[in-house]
Amino acid sequence: MQIYLNGSFVEKDRAGLSVDERGFLLADGLYEVVRVYGGNMLRLEDHLERLRHGCRELSIEYDDFSQIEEIAYKLLGRNSHKSGQATVYIQITRGVAPRKHRFPSKGTRPTVYIATSPISPNLDQIKAGIAAITVDDIRWKRCDLKTIALLPNVLAQEGASRSGAQEALFVDAGNIMEGTHSNCFAIKAGRLFTPPLSNKILAGITRKIVFEICAQTGLDVYMEPIPRASISGLDELFITSTTLEITPVIRLDDNIINESIPGQLTMQVQKMFYEYIARECDYPALLDIL
Ligand code: PMP
Repeated sequence: MQIYLNGSFVEKDRAGLSVDERGFLLADGLYEVVRVYGGNMLRLEDHLERLRHGCRELSIEYDDFSQIEEIAYKLLGRNSHKSGQATVYIQITRGVAPRKHRFPSKGTRPTVYIATSPISPNLDQIKAGIAAITVDDIRWKRCDLKTIALLPNVLAQEGASRSGAQEALFVDAGNIMEGTHSNCFAIKAGRLFTPPLSNKILAGITRKIVFEICAQTGLDVYMEPIPRASISGLDELFITSTTLEITPVIRLDDNIINESIPGQLTMQVQKMFYEYIARECDYPALLDIL
């Protein structure tokens, strides 16, 4: 398996980085995960725009975004990930410099790391739904940036796993914000809603796709908070992400949702999502998995 690191394609187990790398020492960097269906990257432009936004906000001096597409396609080819499904992982950090909190001297080259992996959707979870827990949102106030500083997410996900759940949803000021690696949508009395974009959540690309495909069929999606206190009265709940796609949540803490089966509206969104993938990536293979 090859990866791309700072200008070179190298075998993953032979790749090396300085221990003064600021991603390693300070989590001073950003990442993206792009989904590949049948060799086509889904919404690469949106992922690059989010990365560009992050670099701008964090003053990471990287501006060579135009090379990423070519590198990613080369890597997908070299690793034989051009058919079926894969992910492209992109990480940009502030580079190598002696360990100090302040930015390194001007001209320090950001570290660019790109890797590809095969992925198969978790069909059991997509069809039957998952259990989730809620946890206190102990993260910082810039969750709109996709930084590699993921310790609160790691702890929350570990908490979910230990309690037999598959995802943890962060609760801030009484509202469910998002998952450790997903956005969330709720349905009550036929009304589909998701928390508004803010500095407290990531602007998920899958979330954006849900807005688009729902608009195409005239299904309104409202940007409204999901109060933690309301979950026992929710009709349906689902999470969205590049890797989880549209995954129903059928239990949240001790609350059984829709008698433990994915709801009608959730399944409708899943179907629209796979129809979208079929069109956008010329990848119809998922159309009949539901
Ligand atoms: N929120 C968080 C915290 C995430 O890590 C992710 C996964 N990247 C998402 C939301 C969903 O984003 P996307 O749909 O772009 O994968």
